[in-house]
Amino acid sequence: MDGTERIAIDAAIGRITAKHVNAPIDLPPFDASAMDGYAVDATGLDHADEKRFDVIGESLAGRPSASSLSPGDTIRVFTGAAMPEGANAVVLQEDAVRQGATMITAPPVHHDQHVRHRGHDVRQGAELCCRGTRLSHFHLAWFAACGIEEVTVSRRIRVGVFSTGDELVERGRALGPGQVYDSNRFAITSLLREKAVETFDLGCIADDPQVIANSLEKACKNTDLLVTSGGVSVGDADYVKEAVDRIGRIEFWKIALKPGKPLAVGRVGPALFFGLPGNPVSAIVTYLLFVAPTIDRLGGHEPTPPLTLTATVHARVRHSLGRREYLRGTLRSSDGRLVVTPTGDQGSNRLATFAGANCLMVVDEDKKDIEDGESVDVILLPDEGAHLMHS
Ligand code: AMP
Ligand code: MG
Repeated sequence: MDGTERIAIDAAIGRITAKHVNAPIDLPPFDASAMDGYAVDATGLDHADEKRFDVIGESLAGRPSASSLSPGDTIRVFTGAAMPEGANAVVLQEDAVRQGATMITAPPVHHDQHVRHRGHDVRQGAELCCRGTRLSHFHLAWFAACGIEEVTVSRRIRVGVFSTGDELVERGRALGPGQVYDSNRFAITSLLREKAVETFDLGCIADDPQVIANSLEKACKNTDLLVTSGGVSVGDADYVKEAVDRIGRIEFWKIALKPGKPLAVGRVGPALFFGLPGNPVSAIVTYLLFVAPTIDRLGGHEPTPPLTLTATVHARVRHSLGRREYLRGTLRSSDGRLVVTPTGDQGSNRLATFAGANCLMVVDEDKKDIEDGESVDVILLPDEGAHLMHS
């Protein structure tokens, strides 16, 4: 997609760089002490006997000493303080005895010990990240450390989200006979918050082929990507695929996937089109597997394949040949091994399968039932790893 913008780093989380970002300064910007102690010239101190120094000053973080060292001098330094002129090593406070204006230490003292060198983190001009990087908290922290205020990023992809179905009701209304609350539009717009997109919540469309066609045609004018849910199966009221076929193009329909078999992908005018299945779990899984990486790519970020882990299954999983299946599971470590358990009946209407789930278990199309104790591949659901805890 064309278009870039320059934005403050405060607003850049999750955005995709449209240019390399280079360090405008050396980081650290000066030689600094890494510890609390005494700055000395280490020359000749590798094999000497106990050594006495005159303490001639102090260098604190943000308040460097103006003095420079002559032989036999030392300057008291603290973590992050600039190394004084003439010093090239720090004697740890714990290795020093202070007697008035004298500091006594027992060598060896090595050149560069406990010194953070200017440019050791990154040199001025070096690349902090390349074009097409999705900016994380860690990139942005690094930019902040370099004093970077703004970055050039790809413009946000515009995503229009519809749900379809005569049975759907908005939250806040009472359910009538045969009605259910619309959860897909909520789920998709909520998942889109993690992406560098501008989301247009375009409401729910009735099961009427003309209304569907009109709504999509209108929406495609201002969007890069249209996502619908429902109406792509083979039921009598499934008009979405037919409508897209008529006003645009269906590239493919139906994939050997569980959940998510009826997924339809195509184009409406200038917009890419994803017709997600209506069942809530199918809609979420197909969003994660197909829509999310497409958004990344449209924004100029080549998605990396998910980290695949191997875990031992603690259950018997029935699986028929021919379709790849993504089961919701709970992954945990047990005695140093990864163990995964499916979260109950995997019906594609059951959002309950996401409760307690932290991963998708991948069962390949050429695999039959999986026995208790066998290994499977698992991929983590978004958010996992966002909160680390040291124990
Ligand atoms: P469909 O693919 O339109 O035949 O829908 C399949 C199932 O998913 C039906 O039980 C629908 O009621 C349900 N469904 C479709 N869209 C939604 C939605 N937006 N929120 C919740 N359930 C839905
Ligand atoms: Mg429907």
